[in-house]
Amino acid sequence: MARINENYAKLKAGYLFPEIGRRVAAFQKANPDAKVIKLGIGDVTRPLVPAVVEAMRAAVDEMGSDAGFRGYGPEQGYDFLIDAIREHDYASRGVTIGRDEIFVSDGSKCDSGNIQEIFATDSVVALTDPVYPVYLDTNVMAGRTGAAGDDGRYAGIVYMPTTAENDFTPALPKEHVDLIYLCSPNNPTGAAATKEQLATWVQHAKKTGAVILFDAAYEAFISDPKIPHSIYEVDGAREVAIEFRSFSKTAGFTGTRCAFTVVPKEVTAAAGNGERIALNGLWNRRHTTKFNGVSYPIQRAAAATYSSEGHRQTRDIIAFYMENARLIREGLQRAGYTVYGGVNAPYIWLRTPAGASSWEFFDRLLGTANVVGTPGSGFGPSGEGYFRLSAFNSRANVEEAIARIGRMPAK
Ligand SMILES: *Cc1c(COP(=O)(O)O)cnc(C)c1O
Repeated sequence: MARINENYAKLKAGYLFPEIGRRVAAFQKANPDAKVIKLGIGDVTRPLVPAVVEAMRAAVDEMGSDAGFRGYGPEQGYDFLIDAIREHDYASRGVTIGRDEIFVSDGSKCDSGNIQEIFATDSVVALTDPVYPVYLDTNVMAGRTGAAGDDGRYAGIVYMPTTAENDFTPALPKEHVDLIYLCSPNNPTGAAATKEQLATWVQHAKKTGAVILFDAAYEAFISDPKIPHSIYEVDGAREVAIEFRSFSKTAGFTGTRCAFTVVPKEVTAAAGNGERIALNGLWNRRHTTKFNGVSYPIQRAAAATYSSEGHRQTRDIIAFYMENARLIREGLQRAGYTVYGGVNAPYIWLRTPAGASSWEFFDRLLGTANVVGTPGSGFGPSGEGYFRLSAFNSRANVEEAIARIGRMPAK
């Protein structure tokens, strides 16, 4: 009899977004005339920019011609895209990344979820709390944890609380850890790590032999010139860090699918006999064995985000979302809320008022302002008492949502 991977039984049910959907549907049924505004989901709302669409269309025409047709491409991505990434994302910031250190893929969700495969099953994993759930659940599936306790925490995971009390800067773990997941700018808290803070992590990883898995999916939203866009802007990071980047939020590719992972040649981990093995070769083996490349038109579309037109057009959309973020942040502050984020990230993380739990505030916001957000507790136990609003919506909806929140009775 075939047997299942029992680790899947340890996963808590995908509770957060289905539960939000259930409560919104129930409210809408009871209040059919209410115009509910959703500031909950982490998905973009603006269409692809013209430069991207043109590049994609031209590539589709190429694929339909004898001269331009292409079959399998390099699993790691075409050089035209890899070179554009090296030049615009890295060389422009003083960072040198080699062609064979970039792996183009169909998403950072898959990459940040798959990367754990190249590490030992008994690796100790450190995660921030709250956290993007992919980092946790993929390690649960791989058997790196025990069961979840009543406090919502899995045995074996080292949780690093990131709350207002520590200024959303997690402390270095006291216990030994092998893998450290960091996300900056952060989903869900909206916080962005400074160069000094990242340097502390790099030093710690060098001293302890840990590897940092750095998710920079929101780097395009950074407005503060002092905040690094890549962990490789920190000296020594090439020896200890893997970086994930995505076109999803940067250029509206959530439905188009293109991302990449950087694995520098210097970053290593130990084999059983103590020998240090380059992770670049391991990830190359994994990527080329289990993945057959991103489609040619999509890679052409991604490359178009780096042309001067494409860059200007995508920057305009980021600026649009960040103006939404400013309106939400300042509107909430005027209404008396304590808010974080929204400056270097499209997420506003607010403290629920008067000791309300995240879900109590969800119900109140839905019931009185007809606005949907995401309860902070859904991202981890330390997210309790917080709430996430996203800047991904139309200007009219954002303005209306903020006006309604301003009229909510303070309680
Ligand atoms: C949206 C998001 C990503 C991007 O995932 P894709 O699979 O590339 O769409 C990665 N990390 C975080 C934290 C995100 O919120």
